Amino acid sequence: MIRRICVFCGASTGTDPIHVRAARDLGRLLAERGIGLVYGGGKVGLMGAVADAALEAGGEVIGVIPRRLVEAELAHPDATEMRITETLHERKAQMAALADAFIALPGGLGTLEELSEVASQAQLHLHRKPIGILDVSGYYEGLLAHLDGAVAAGFLAPAHPAILLVETTAEALLDRLVAHGPPR
Ligand code: AMP
Repeated sequence: MIRRICVFCGASTGTDPIHVRAARDLGRLLAERGIGLVYGGGKVGLMGAVADAALEAGGEVIGVIPRRLVEAELAHPDATEMRITETLHERKAQMAALADAFIALPGGLGTLEELSEVASQAQLHLHRKPIGILDVSGYYEGLLAHLDGAVAAGFLAPAHPAILLVETTAEALLDRLVAHGPPR
């Protein structure tokens, strides 16, 4: 059973409002399905949007934020629980430990780094938690094309792009993550 999902997403909202809507849809849907949200703890950007929507729908929201980002990313005052870490590495480790699956929404380098870490660990079988990309706008097409190129160039096993489950709606993505089942 998937009890909590860790969402990686931008500390910015991006310029296209479709991404804020997607973050809110995901937050609300997690709450409606009784799945807790684990995230970077901020009230800014898509992070704030997904957390606000989950809280408004009565969901559990656990933020994990490094001490030195509490001010810059405005640690969410209404989160069910806020964990303060000393480093970015501890943040990622705690987020991963608390969650049964991962979802990436659009974001910048921080999001890319977080997504890349859990995906590269999955290919080494260091965990078996499913990883999804919620790509409502085609934002991730470039990254996915790059991964196809990496397969063609012999740097990535053909099975490995399948580590990333890509869907355009939160409903479809949650269905696939849940169907993938709990980590063994
Ligand atoms: P961004 O996608 O760049 O807007 O960042 C999204 C989130 O990732 C923010 O909460 C950043 O603080 C966080 N972040 C940035 N770099 C790292 C990193 N190396 N490890 C963990 N989190 C990070």
